[in-house]
Amino acid sequence: MFDELVAGLDDSYTLRRLEEMIRIPSVVGEEAELAEYLRRELDALGLKTALEEVEPGRPNVYARMAGGRPGRRLMFNGHTDTVPVCEGWEKDPFTPVVEEGRMYGLGSCDMKAGLACALTALKAFADTGFDFEGELLFSGVIDEEAYSKGAKAMLGTEWADCDAVVLAEPYPGDESKPIPLGITGKVLYDTTVRGRAAHGFSPELGVNAIEEAARILVNLDKLEMRSHPKFGRGNLCTLKIEGGYRVYSVVVPDRCRFEVNRLLVPGETVASAVDDMERLAASLNLNAEVEVKTKPPRYEPFILREDEPILRVFNEVYREVMGADPLYEYASGITDANVFAGEAGIPCLHLGPRRGGAHQPNEYVPLEWLPPVSKMYALIAARFLGG
Ligand SMILES: [Zn+2]
Repeated sequence: MFDELVAGLDDSYTLRRLEEMIRIPSVVGEEAELAEYLRRELDALGLKTALEEVEPGRPNVYARMAGGRPGRRLMFNGHTDTVPVCEGWEKDPFTPVVEEGRMYGLGSCDMKAGLACALTALKAFADTGFDFEGELLFSGVIDEEAYSKGAKAMLGTEWADCDAVVLAEPYPGDESKPIPLGITGKVLYDTTVRGRAAHGFSPELGVNAIEEAARILVNLDKLEMRSHPKFGRGNLCTLKIEGGYRVYSVVVPDRCRFEVNRLLVPGETVASAVDDMERLAASLNLNAEVEVKTKPPRYEPFILREDEPILRVFNEVYREVMGADPLYEYASGITDANVFAGEAGIPCLHLGPRRGGAHQPNEYVPLEWLPPVSKMYALIAARFLGG
């Protein structure tokens, strides 16, 4: 039943699209040209497409293919941005080079290879006229490597109305990178402590904001942190503190600000984390005023139910294509799934070709991974959409 669809997978198309995408620089902030490229490709495949600006000159690209009957909606998602060029590249990062079965280039594995495989799966649906229910969606979002502005913008649109997302990040589900069943969130506390200035020879007349802030910091181990059976407890790291005079003066400092990074586990949220810090400050009977804020990027944690329909379909398909069970993990990284699943509750499956040094010089993707990933994408979509 799926034979025709699988026969319609064109692996040389994947390679060509991957090469072309590596030639289009899309360092975070400069995603427009790649978004336009993807739109043209998706148009050519017969999908209904849209470019929607998240910020001036920084569009997300969306596309939709409707099945023959109403049903579920499945989205293939990828980020269009790459990290900036780092030190140590021995080749031009924007010229794809194939050596010993690897294609080198910036963004090759993170995540233009995944985008190319998603295009190939969509092309197989388009070329074979495979009959399915519901809708196949595609989104290419900006800014994943920075603040996830593209993913967050998508949540405010009709495109977020979908039943599952396949995130084409480099997670092959083997020992090199198991599939995340849940990911921690994170919050960056930005806490301002306001005291009262006085002459530094009469400190008792003022309220020393630095000393009051220090009392919070040395008591951070009393901050309430919940434990999760799969993740254990999150953690804290003080990243920055500032306060006191600019030009030497003997004045009781009236202001101190500090930033603490916190990993969140499921059951905790950005909002509950703010409450936790406010409660800690209140418990210390400080004389200063404490204002707890957070700075972007903020990410909610998430966990998938093991019986999610998308996971059930994925398990079957993985076994069939890879001849083994996928490996899973509970991870402490951040991806756009923290936005889709963490904020909007859309189940997200990470799946993509194996990585070769993402965020490192001489990034590559092992080409042997492209055909099985395209095939898994097509079969997951076909099964999930009741074909
Ligand atoms: Zn990525």
